[in-house]
Amino acid sequence: MKLLIDGEWVDSSSGRTAPDISPSTGNNIATFALANREDVESAIDSAEDAFNGWYALGSKNRSKIIVRAAEIIQNRRSELEDILITENGKVIMEARQEVDGVIDQLLYYAGFERKLPGDVLEGPDIQQRLFLHRVPFGVVVALTPWNFPAGMVARKLAPALLTGNTVVLKPSSDTPMAAEWIVKRFIEAGIPKGVLNFITGKGSEIGDLLVSHRKISLVTMTGSTDTGQRIMRKASENMAKLILELGGKAPFIVWRDANLTTALKTLLWAKFWNSGQSCIAAERLYIHEEVYDKFLEMLKKAVSRIKVGDPREADMGPLINRNSLNTMHDFVRDAITRGRRIISGGKVPSLKHELRNGFYFEPTVIEENDQGSPLFQEEIFGPIIGAMKVSDREDVFLKANDSKYGLASYLFTEDNEFIMEAFDRIRFGELYVNMPGPEASNGYHTGFRMTGQAGEGSVYGISEYLKVKNIYLNYGRDVSVPTVRESLISDDLHP
Ligand code: NAP
Repeated sequence: MKLLIDGEWVDSSSGRTAPDISPSTGNNIATFALANREDVESAIDSAEDAFNGWYALGSKNRSKIIVRAAEIIQNRRSELEDILITENGKVIMEARQEVDGVIDQLLYYAGFERKLPGDVLEGPDIQQRLFLHRVPFGVVVALTPWNFPAGMVARKLAPALLTGNTVVLKPSSDTPMAAEWIVKRFIEAGIPKGVLNFITGKGSEIGDLLVSHRKISLVTMTGSTDTGQRIMRKASENMAKLILELGGKAPFIVWRDANLTTALKTLLWAKFWNSGQSCIAAERLYIHEEVYDKFLEMLKKAVSRIKVGDPREADMGPLINRNSLNTMHDFVRDAITRGRRIISGGKVPSLKHELRNGFYFEPTVIEENDQGSPLFQEEIFGPIIGAMKVSDREDVFLKANDSKYGLASYLFTEDNEFIMEAFDRIRFGELYVNMPGPEASNGYHTGFRMTGQAGEGSVYGISEYLKVKNIYLNYGRDVSVPTVRESLISDDLHP
């Protein structure tokens, strides 16, 4: 895989590359260029040079290019689905769902053409006007994670480009191929050279330069909280605006009056979708004591039926890499050391020979009673969930909010009063009541606390890519300037 700089596909200036590993087999499926400082500078210069022309096209014309890219993706979608299965380990249904999401995001944001809001207000004098006009920031750096390697690219490119910004995109080093494929479709759709640049390389090597560069005005990043904090520190050097979509630790509350079948069906999705590697994944299960045993028994049976293995055949595929797999072992080891009961799973499943070097882990349920445990405090980001017995509403609100993250939360109850109280009391960006996610294009995906800053989706999300610029206009024949004495500008000043 090469870099796309100023409309040309080029090798990294250093010639260095890195392998792209399939998590299903552990095999190397491609190599990608490792960009260095010189490449980053060139990509940013190219985006900066392309900015005026791209903005001058107007949102109607920019939208047409985005719609065309969406159509090309729709026509060739099986290629992207294949990449998601091979490069990321997604099972077939999840790969299809992600591509649906890519197309939906592109078309949703393209629909904002000529709808970007603005205001015209009276000035102090009636012959004066104040225009509050939304304009693009300029060059946007987009950093995407591996867990939705196509969806997150679409969610950043579409609003950034529609609003008239130009982009330097750097995908996760675990999944560069999916991003590269989408970038190629934008080129086929006719995006002018320099408007979209594509850089691959280690965030640890080129990230600081990308986010602190003086020509960058906005950084939009989805990833871990640690990386988000580092970006914040570095971006203090250029005061770039930040859109940071970071970690999650969703509480999943099953109350005594819940429809247990609905709750279970949703939980199987919320925990094991994408092998638990989702920022809105259920990570903490709070079950009312009156239905605790029954619900856990239902969960145990259902989980034992989940087929783990080759993503082309199974219900659940692998984790992204060996580090993630090791983290799962750490959570289980810690729980066992503390005397917790493993209700289901807890180890690597038995696999056919070709998959032995893949990163698979069984869907796992662990009983927990310590709110302060790693299981209930740290982001797991894999197919493990801790289950805790609860009995009191006040207590469950306290426990749910007791997390450094604040992205998604789930509640299952038939009690309307409880639902509305939860809406007021649970301090998370999203509350799903008696239903699954994921977040919709027209919802505002955002989080409290260490989940980050700003958000994506909806009219609020697109506004994040726009700055408000003020034009003060006087169209009267004269202007009143009260603090300037009239005699200073008497007629004899005119030559
Ligand atoms: P990550 O390691 O933080 O990486 C995210 C992106 O940042 C990658 O492109 C990475 O590149 C880059 N990066 C790494 N170090 C950097 C630096 N110093 N400066 C600039 N960029 C840098 O996250 P991940 O492991 O890919 O993704 C998993 C995390 O994303 C989880 O915590 C999950 O909760 C979160 N997530 C959040 C949302 C949301 O909407 N809130 C959605 C999805 C995922 P390299 O790959 O080259 O290191």
